[in-house]
Amino acid sequence: MEQLTITAKIQVKTTDADRELLNETMSLYRAACNYVADYVFQTHNLKQFSLNKALYSTLREQYGLKSQMAQSVLKTVIARYKTILENQKEWIKPTFKKPQYDLVWNRDYSLTQNLFSVNTLKGRLKLAYFSDVMEKYFDSNVYKFGTAKLVNKHGKYFLHIPVTYDVAESQTSDICNVIGVDRGINFLTATYDSKSRSKFVSGKAIKHKRAKYSKTRKALQQRKTPSSRRRLKAIGQRENRWMHDVNHQVSKALVENNPEHTLFVLEDLSGVRNATEKVRIKNRYVSVSWAFYDLEKKLIYKAKQNKSTVIKVDPAYTSQCCPKCGHTEKANRNKKTHLFTCKTCGYKSNDDRVAAMNLYRMGINYLVDNQVPSTVTIE
Ligand SMILES: [Zn+2]
Repeated sequence: MEQLTITAKIQVKTTDADRELLNETMSLYRAACNYVADYVFQTHNLKQFSLNKALYSTLREQYGLKSQMAQSVLKTVIARYKTILENQKEWIKPTFKKPQYDLVWNRDYSLTQNLFSVNTLKGRLKLAYFSDVMEKYFDSNVYKFGTAKLVNKHGKYFLHIPVTYDVAESQTSDICNVIGVDRGINFLTATYDSKSRSKFVSGKAIKHKRAKYSKTRKALQQRKTPSSRRRLKAIGQRENRWMHDVNHQVSKALVENNPEHTLFVLEDLSGVRNATEKVRIKNRYVSVSWAFYDLEKKLIYKAKQNKSTVIKVDPAYTSQCCPKCGHTEKANRNKKTHLFTCKTCGYKSNDDRVAAMNLYRMGINYLVDNQVPSTVTIE
């Protein structure tokens, strides 16, 4: 069994009085987080027990937090430091800028089909919420709720709830379909599968829209006014949302168009100095490599839900190797015309399709060897 976690986002319904109380609670929570972050930065102490001993009375008396909220503050700060230490390998003091509130399930919050109940500075608050996205998760035998985050976005309150559930792990012996998936610019994805089918998702519209975003960004960057900076940020966020959505659609279609127990074979782009090396210079926007990774993440996740597996293989020569005779030569591929022509056997095809065919073949090799070559990462 393997555990999957999704984040369910629900909007909470609030009155003016509710909002005032939530704001007050979240602001104090943030202030307490910053206070604890300061203390931890000076002491390098990350143990909940001794932090609690040292700071509990201040959190209760000075910040007016309930006992449970004080524990939650400690947990939040400890978790943030652990992430920083893991990623940056040094002590950097985090700042909690936005009012927030981390809620431990069944202690700080609970959720029924129609009510969200939360601890505040003035006791329990029970609020209705827009429940349609949550309905399917109310089977406690299957779904477990984790520590949720209450956030305020433009005056509206949202609760982000991690929902964890088990899925059966896919076995290599169950695999009934292999598909090579090449990611690129002209084609967002080019695929080749066990039935020798090729499919292409055009990247043309994406490329065009990205170029437009890039142009707008450049113009705004030159203006350097406070309002242009704000616009720049807003546009960046809009572009991200759009890209997330595109990747969601593409990965969803990939999983839905293939049976359960499919092996998806991707290029491992983490070894490539920069994923954008795959991309011609005029197309090299920062967002491209980010988009590739994001698509990969989404595909891995959705594949697991469908009892399927994603492996990543060494990308070397996937676009230079002839899928028919194995002859590998740089000149096989004409990058300008996107045509692959094997110098030995004369096999001709679109270059991205050839890359997908090679990925497919590497997937078959992986199954035949029934072992993990050093170049393969299983997700
Ligand atoms: Zn050939």
